[in-house]
Amino acid sequence: MSISDMTTRQDLIAAASRYVTEGGLETDLARLVAHKSVSQSEGTPEDLMAYLTGEMQPMLTAMGFDVAIHANPRPGGAPLLTGVRIEDPALPTVLVYGHGDVCNGEAHRWREGLSPFVLTREDDKLYGRGTADNKVQHLINLKAMELILKENGRLGFNAKVIIEMAEETGSYGLRDFFEEKKDLLASDVLIASDGPRLAADTPTMFMGSRGGMGIDLTVDLRPSDHHSGNFGGLLADPAIILAHAIASITDKRGQIRIKEWLPDSLTPDIREALKDLPPRRHDADWGQEDLTPSERVFGWNSMAVLAMANGNIDAPQNAISGKARATIQLRFVVGTDVEGVIPALRRHLDREGFPQVAVKPSRGEAFRATRFPPDHPWVKFVEQSLAETAGRKPHVLPNLAGSLPNDAFTEILGLPTIWVPHSHAECGQHGPNEHVLLPVMEEGMRLMTGLFLDIAEKGQSLPRRG
Ligand SMILES: [Zn+2]
Repeated sequence: MSISDMTTRQDLIAAASRYVTEGGLETDLARLVAHKSVSQSEGTPEDLMAYLTGEMQPMLTAMGFDVAIHANPRPGGAPLLTGVRIEDPALPTVLVYGHGDVCNGEAHRWREGLSPFVLTREDDKLYGRGTADNKVQHLINLKAMELILKENGRLGFNAKVIIEMAEETGSYGLRDFFEEKKDLLASDVLIASDGPRLAADTPTMFMGSRGGMGIDLTVDLRPSDHHSGNFGGLLADPAIILAHAIASITDKRGQIRIKEWLPDSLTPDIREALKDLPPRRHDADWGQEDLTPSERVFGWNSMAVLAMANGNIDAPQNAISGKARATIQLRFVVGTDVEGVIPALRRHLDREGFPQVAVKPSRGEAFRATRFPPDHPWVKFVEQSLAETAGRKPHVLPNLAGSLPNDAFTEILGLPTIWVPHSHAECGQHGPNEHVLLPVMEEGMRLMTGLFLDIAEKGQSLPRRG
């Protein structure tokens, strides 16, 4: 690298930093957050479309992308946006992904002074639904490219962008879209951002994700409730049966008791990769007892009860419910027999004496688990670039603990996938008071600008598709 190149890299990274410190990011993010682009029950198709037509399309068009908005291949699905910017077919092509949809605002659960669709700054925090998940994350990546384009007039690589609007409903239709548009999306690597950093003060990269599968459990014994005095002791209580059934799936510290639900992939190299990660917040008496906290969350499977219901919790009646139901979820790493999960649960419940518990997959698509080798040249390259910009080594995770539609990129598009998250674990995504941290945003802008400059300079030596 020559002296003048280095000045350029440093100057551009300084400009990236100013975009955050001088308020540009806050202004742009406020506009993005004001779109109620909810893909779950509170949302409307108009708001999903408006995020693409009102924000992503103009921004990318101004950057010289050839932008198209596509109908979802599945009926009733949300639209998708693609952007393509080819400088020279001989250069590497980077695919950037983001999701513009958010989960329900749940305004009543946010604390006083905060409102989900109004960006609110308090000290170094920016609050709003979708700030962390995922609006600021793709905003940063697009703005880093925009900055380089403004300063240099070119990126030095080809860029493609895909923005979906259904990630919070299991990326409905995304895989079908990728199958249809393989040529349009053909690239050499996915560089994207979602999820949290492992520790807020250290850059993180990960190459895959755990999968997630929801399962509905129902005990439906009779069409109506019955007086708990007149029938108590005579009629079976579906809530008690359901509670026992759920309790049979794990032990009291949440260790899964269904053998077929466990992975075979916690091999010595993965344990080695997880060994030096900083400690995670955890309850000492919870989870797989013989594993470290990092192994529990990045290398193992876990079950959660997402919701359970019978009667009316706000005004309980003196009655035995006719029906009780719950939705549970399995989070799993690669090396889990996904197709076997529901059959194994059925066999388990029958064996444990719960034939009355009906089992079916929850609405919405399951996320599959993926993991990309930590020693791939693209992984090493990105790790090196992040370390140079940040001045310290990033945390490198084989996979994220949460779920992403990463299999669509690895399996359908055949890409190495590298995620550089710009959020932090306590960001409140999927709950009230979601927020991002300005220092992490600033470093995120610096990291991505440095990374894109490095791809332009040295990316031609990295493995290409095919
Ligand atoms: Zn999410």
